[in-house]
Amino acid sequence: RKAVQRITTGSKALDELLGGGVETQSITEIYGPYGSGKTQFCHQMAVTVQLDEEKGGLGRGAMYIDTEGTFRPERILQIAERFKLDPEHTLKNILYARAFTSDHQMIVTERAESYIKERDIGLIIVDSLISHFRGEYVGRETLAERQQKLNKYLHKLLRLALGYNMAVIVTNQVVADPTAFFGDPNKPAGGHVLGHGVTARLYIKRGKKDRRVIKLVKSPYLPEGTVEVAITQGGIED
Ligand code: ATP
Ligand code: MG
Repeated sequence: RKAVQRITTGSKALDELLGGGVETQSITEIYGPYGSGKTQFCHQMAVTVQLDEEKGGLGRGAMYIDTEGTFRPERILQIAERFKLDPEHTLKNILYARAFTSDHQMIVTERAESYIKERDIGLIIVDSLISHFRGEYVGRETLAERQQKLNKYLHKLLRLALGYNMAVIVTNQVVADPTAFFGDPNKPAGGHVLGHGVTARLYIKRGKKDRRVIKLVKSPYLPEGTVEVAITQGGIED
């Protein structure tokens, strides 16, 4: 088996929190409320994975599975410029796929395998992992089926991550946690299936002005911790 590699997030503080960056051979989840910066994080990582290894990337391309239609090519161009990458080339190195339903999302991901080899993809992004699942399976009686399908999907992603020494980043939404007396009333959607299915879990929320607070809430070997970053024209930074 190949050694695990790490992709820089563009923030020193966040890289340190993650033990060096986003890992290959695992699934990293980022969850948080609307407008907290999940999609910004995805755009950023689609660029930084393309950096040379000595600059913190893998020197490989990205695949972006978009379920909400929020991918913005202009944003990639801006972030690429900050990292002194050729913007158009960086954009071309992102294989973009829109997924219109949860079934479609499964199929797109299955078909990704041939592209991963062909285009040397080092990162798969699924933004958002859960929106179609939540939209299509409403009501208690469909929950078990939804969770089973979600579980299957997560295994598919993990298999790809392991097979190709790739990183996988998924975004997730928050739901109200009625049991939260103190602290944050938000918890990640997807229940135990998602909680167990992902390797590392990050929580992002708004801070003052352009600041964002990011907390590592689950890791197989790193302590919990919180850092602050900024979202600017150039993406996520310290
Ligand atoms: P949702 O749950 O709705 O998908 P999200 O967590 O994906 O939300 P993002 O779309 O990543 O949220 O974040 C949007 C926010 O990112 C904007 O409100 C703005 O604060 C910030 N942002 C976006 N583009 C820029 C930019 N060019 N410069 C600075 N900040 C930006
Ligand atoms: Mg988003």
